[in-house]
Amino acid sequence: MKIKAVFSLFLLLLSGSTLSYGFSGGQLPVPQARAGVIDLRLQTFEDKLPLDGQWQFYWQQFVDPVLKSAPADTLVQFPFMWGGSTVKGQTLPGFGYATYRLTVLLPKRDKILRIAMPDAYSAYQLFVNGREAAANGHISTSAHGFVPHWQYRAFDVEKGIDTLRLTLYIANFVHSKGGIKKPIYIGEKVKIELGRQQAAAIDLMLTGCLFMGGLFFLGLYLMGNRDRAILLFALYSIVYCYRILGVDNYVLHTILPGLDWYLTARLEYLTLFLGIGLFGLYTRYLYPDDISKTAHWVVNSICFLFSAAALVLPASWFTQLINPFLALCLFCIVYTPYVYFRAYKNKRPGAVYALASSGALMYVFTITLLHYWSITPQLQGLSFIGYISFFFLQSLVLSHRVSFALGKARQQAEQGLKAKSDFLSTMSHEIRTPLNSVIGMSHLLLGNNPRKDQVKQLDVMLYSANHLLAIVNDILDYNKIEAGKINFEHIEMNFGDIASHVVTGLQDDAQRKGIALKLEIDGDLKSPVLGDPTRTFQVLSNLVHNAIKFTATGYVLISIRVPQQSANKITLDVRVIDTGIGISKGHQQIIFDRFTQADSSTSRGFGGTGLGLAICKRILELQGTRLQLSSEEGKGSVFYFTQDFEKIAESIKQQPFGVVLPDPQQKPLKGITILLVEDNPMNVLVANNFLKNWGAEVDVALNGAEALHILDTTKHQLVLMDLQMPVMDGYEAARRMRADGVTIPIVALTANLPSEVAEEVKSSGLDDIVIKPFLPGDLYKKIMYHVFGNGSKSK
Ligand code: ADP
Repeated sequence: MKIKAVFSLFLLLLSGSTLSYGFSGGQLPVPQARAGVIDLRLQTFEDKLPLDGQWQFYWQQFVDPVLKSAPADTLVQFPFMWGGSTVKGQTLPGFGYATYRLTVLLPKRDKILRIAMPDAYSAYQLFVNGREAAANGHISTSAHGFVPHWQYRAFDVEKGIDTLRLTLYIANFVHSKGGIKKPIYIGEKVKIELGRQQAAAIDLMLTGCLFMGGLFFLGLYLMGNRDRAILLFALYSIVYCYRILGVDNYVLHTILPGLDWYLTARLEYLTLFLGIGLFGLYTRYLYPDDISKTAHWVVNSICFLFSAAALVLPASWFTQLINPFLALCLFCIVYTPYVYFRAYKNKRPGAVYALASSGALMYVFTITLLHYWSITPQLQGLSFIGYISFFFLQSLVLSHRVSFALGKARQQAEQGLKAKSDFLSTMSHEIRTPLNSVIGMSHLLLGNNPRKDQVKQLDVMLYSANHLLAIVNDILDYNKIEAGKINFEHIEMNFGDIASHVVTGLQDDAQRKGIALKLEIDGDLKSPVLGDPTRTFQVLSNLVHNAIKFTATGYVLISIRVPQQSANKITLDVRVIDTGIGISKGHQQIIFDRFTQADSSTSRGFGGTGLGLAICKRILELQGTRLQLSSEEGKGSVFYFTQDFEKIAESIKQQPFGVVLPDPQQKPLKGITILLVEDNPMNVLVANNFLKNWGAEVDVALNGAEALHILDTTKHQLVLMDLQMPVMDGYEAARRMRADGVTIPIVALTANLPSEVAEEVKSSGLDDIVIKPFLPGDLYKKIMYHVFGNGSKSK
């Protein structure tokens, strides 16, 4: 169906071209004028006929059109351009004037005929049987009073008239050529009219396509894709539009009859020279390595030189440039496909379309040149198809180029992102490892009855180390969120417990500032829910930490309400309310952006990176809710969000935050031997000290291979295994131990985040993870759990 439609359109366009500029297929041979007379009495005018053949010619004379006959200077083969032609042994110049005469014998008929007059070089006046029938511009015997004009004209021949005496005055004092190049056609009025309309419609349609295409690519270039090839193609398309509308059929001149010849002729030549120049440049930017620099330079220099000539020189000069320029076009027709072929062979993006388009280009130029040299009629429908194919294929080249560039940019961006996140991971790992020693040592010293003044100094040291750790963690976290690497757990959690744990953890901070830290939990919140306890804890503690930080007097309140719940769903309204410094309206918009603080003095006064809220916001967004703020400067702030959870029946009693363990000072690990596998001597020192303080015996292996060698399951009850070590890493060592039938608990010690290593830890047979730098309490809890199985296992 589609193919049929396309085929019909093709036929229609083809018929358009033959109709307008006629193969007179049915009436061969086409009658020719002889000795100034053309006999059309046997014609039916099924197709239009050119009034070609021998016309009478009078050089430098305007013969009285009323005269029935006048002895002619000579007979010329019409259409006839006199510039450079020889008449009676004399070579005529381009400038001058002349009369052409022809008698047309017509049959008796019942149809109105129409004569279609093309443009002439460069003004004419046509008389039929002594009366003016058409004119273009103003003829004259000298440049004085002469006005050139090119426009399509047509007039009717009534039914009763059987003889037409055509007297055509042509004058030229501006163009390098003089006379007339295109045939005058006679035919049935309806058909001539239809032909003209079809020609105009095709020209308008093609102009519209090119213009819109040009604007589209111009927009693409201006909107950010600064690819010069795209700009040049856009300019070429727009410039070439003029060649379609303002040349040949002169549809533009029909629409705007008042156009000045001196302007339009300049534009006609300029757009040709410039158009080819732009196309040459475009090809050069498209495939710079496939085009000869010299050929490109020569062609473009000529094009731009000729363009400059068309801009500044008089018409009689620049119109002479057309023939050398057409020779250059012939070279381009051959050379451009060669460039595209090379590009295709060298596998350039979109070169296959470029190569196909060069076929269309050769086709269009061949048709245009053959018509220009009057070898064939205009074949407008066929050249329309050629033009459309050419521009369409070139658009594909550019689309391909844009998507290729985009793909490359995306690849680079992804590589950049990966490099950044790898870098941050490595850096954070490297920073966390020495921090482990600093924090661990501070704890040890604090536990060894230091002097009072030393306690203060150690507190500062510990506070700073923890602060640094929080910053590193924030950066790492944000990096992960941005890279989309964050996964949420979907496990049982007790929202109320998490909130009270946050309060317990930050109570000291609040007390130190002399403010109250309160928690209000709705009585309706009874059942545990499905969620991510780690992330929930992170959001709450971040908000509460901020609230304490920015409040000098009054209180900080965590309020958890239950606006609605059903059998399996519960909605929680969580608010962190403070009576602190508040946030101005203007700053309320920006503080959720990363690295943004309400004002620059904040970081000086309170410290912080400006990442905390950005992280909270993203964590909540990824869980389908929105962190909101209402605040008044000087009065306080409320950060709040409403989150839906699935309820679960209280099943396994989890006590992640509140197991009562024996006091570590009582040395509860007495009699327990632990194998510590760690390559960093500082970390060995820290862990060793803690473990010994808690009563354990410690054997140390400096890498996985050594651990395999030392491990004695009759002696060791637990392995603490660093993951990244030389010789053999912790994963491999754990795998081998499990393969050897070792069943004692193996706990990973790592400076990576749990989510980064969790999967491999599990698959390697490790039982749990302790994150470095570790809090002594956490390490203690995990060891107790794994050694004695007292249910204190927590993440
Ligand atoms: P940080 O606290 O590390 O600077 P945040 O992203 O947590 O980064 O906070 C960004 C900014 O928002 C803070 O610097 C502060 O200006 C403002 N802000 C956050 N919470 C509060 C609050 N409770 N009261 C007043 N200002 C706040």
